[in-house]
Amino acid sequence: VLRFENVRKVFGPHVVLDDVSLDVPAHSVTVLIGASGSGKSTLLRCANLLETVDDGAIFLSGREITDPRVNVDEVRQKIGVVFQAYNLFPHLSVLDNITLAPRRVHGVARREAEDRALALLDRLGLRGKAADYPDRLSGGQQQRVAIVRALATDPTLLLLDEITAALDPELVGEVLNVVASLKDDGMTMVIATHEMGFAREVADQVCFLADGRVLERGSSTQLFGEPQEERTQQFLRRVS
Ligand code: ATP
Ligand code: MG
Repeated sequence: VLRFENVRKVFGPHVVLDDVSLDVPAHSVTVLIGASGSGKSTLLRCANLLETVDDGAIFLSGREITDPRVNVDEVRQKIGVVFQAYNLFPHLSVLDNITLAPRRVHGVARREAEDRALALLDRLGLRGKAADYPDRLSGGQQQRVAIVRALATDPTLLLLDEITAALDPELVGEVLNVVASLKDDGMTMVIATHEMGFAREVADQVCFLADGRVLERGSSTQLFGEPQEERTQQFLRRVS
């Protein structure tokens, strides 16, 4: 579904993504791990066209999205994103947060957008929260609403960047359970995380990034069980 071909991204003199190639098959979960600053967020931001790439190309469903003629809104409709925190608009109700993009950007009728939003809220254990404002919800509930919002445009692909990093430890589980259930439903996801236990459990493919390069890639069993590269081994020893 998503493919990176020799992607390079620089900030000034700083090479942040260096010749990154990556293939994310449909209905699979790819987890990005690596030290702080290794380029995980930048990779996700490039996929969502929040950053332009300096070299190489990115393809979504076979179509090059790094082509400058591409319609950015259309691409973003196909790619749902959830970031670490501060995802929701504080002045909008849960329901309005979720239906804003489908209605305003993608022209979906209010009724249809709301029906879909309510069904998703229900599925993610948030029945009865539609009229609440974000500050009335726990951090875990807010992140689940952010996931519902990312799903509201019926995306082909979901990008999740450290979605539990800002949560109190006791709220992490409920958000990770939602991700696990989306995986069971066959959602294609790319997830950057420091939660190694979760990464190991949910990943079909794990990529270890170091200094902007995909240093090692493999199945969860391979990468966590028998890491080949010295730096991968060091990293896993340090974080486990
Ligand atoms: P973390 O685990 O801390 O979230 P990360 O792997 O997500 O780290 P990135 O946020 O992708 O790392 O950052 C990679 C590198 O790019 C870092 O050295 C960072 O300082 C740099 N960087 C990111 N965004 C910018 C920017 N807008 N301008 C300049 N440098 C940037
Ligand atoms: Mg990051």
